[in-house]
Amino acid sequence: MTPPDSGDPAACFQPSYRVSRERLLEAAHALSARHPVLVDSRSIAPRGPEGETLALDWACFGARRPRHALVLSSGTHGVEGYTGSAIQHHVLANVLPRLALAPDTALVIQHANNPYGFAWHRRVNEDNVDFNRNFRERFDPTQCPADYEALYDCLNPTDLDAARETGRWARIDAFIAEHGLRRFQQAAVEGQYRYPAGMQFGGHAQAAGTRHLLALVREHLRDAQTVIWLDFHTGLGDFGACELITGAPIADAGYAFSQQVWSDGVKSAAGGESVSTPLNGLLDRGLAAALPAGARFAFAYPEYGTWEPMRVIRAMRADNWLAHHGDRGDATGRAIETDMLEAFRPDSRDWERRVVASGAALVAQALARLPGAKR
Ligand SMILES: [Zn+2]
Repeated sequence: MTPPDSGDPAACFQPSYRVSRERLLEAAHALSARHPVLVDSRSIAPRGPEGETLALDWACFGARRPRHALVLSSGTHGVEGYTGSAIQHHVLANVLPRLALAPDTALVIQHANNPYGFAWHRRVNEDNVDFNRNFRERFDPTQCPADYEALYDCLNPTDLDAARETGRWARIDAFIAEHGLRRFQQAAVEGQYRYPAGMQFGGHAQAAGTRHLLALVREHLRDAQTVIWLDFHTGLGDFGACELITGAPIADAGYAFSQQVWSDGVKSAAGGESVSTPLNGLLDRGLAAALPAGARFAFAYPEYGTWEPMRVIRAMRADNWLAHHGDRGDATGRAIETDMLEAFRPDSRDWERRVVASGAALVAQALARLPGAKR
């Protein structure tokens, strides 16, 4: 196997979900000479575009049932997994071969939380569900923000007829002129539980992937006392910039611990500190509830900026139209898929280098705070 890194961080980016997964499994095998390795793969029913298995892969290096663990996860928002997995491949090639771990400590690569979206270049999963709005105990099928209801037809067109589209965008522009871009962003991405074919659907039940991830955490982290977790995202913020976001309220103990781990600080979406607006059903809240009582839990979503918000929202809106009304195989479908990829994984070597370097620095800070890890 050729290591994915040959001095250039951009080389950590993989050409597809399938190749990324294969390289992860190869690297895990190769690293078994240095660390105890456990791989727990949980597959979902659909297949990828090449017929490949789609799975959440928990690759644990070090203690089988750790007291102290750093978890790096990717692909919560499918297509954003190109970036998270690039950082994971950097760690596999450059950090794990040199890392010393105490017998009660582990580093976990959790590859592709939403493998369907990663493989098919969507942000949502196989049920059109936003994985990061799906971590709830109860689902209320009437829950939907009033602004989303008001803009439903504009956000979720059933056709791309030019005249009708002009009218819809005029209504969106009028909404932004009256209420501001941030309130439009809130309406578009906050999450809704009413319309399964609409953008930002949070689900009517926990998705298979959600249940798999929570089961992996309950099983493998049941003895954990310290858990530090990074879940990598893209699509929000300035090009190549990083913001660390958490769903934890400012009063939460995990919020304070997260501030200690990452020197630049973590911003609470719930507390209104972040470029992200407050959101529903977040993964980190689900994980916090699944971990043993009393475990110290530091969590951050590193969010890497790509293009301006309206370009990203336009790509997501078109992708949702394509999934329900279009054809992925025709010219329009291919163009929409290309725009989706560009919105969440810009075709820029400079951008790639910046995000891999940033991810590596965040991992180094986390390892410095993890008991039992020595670089
Ligand atoms: Zn995301």
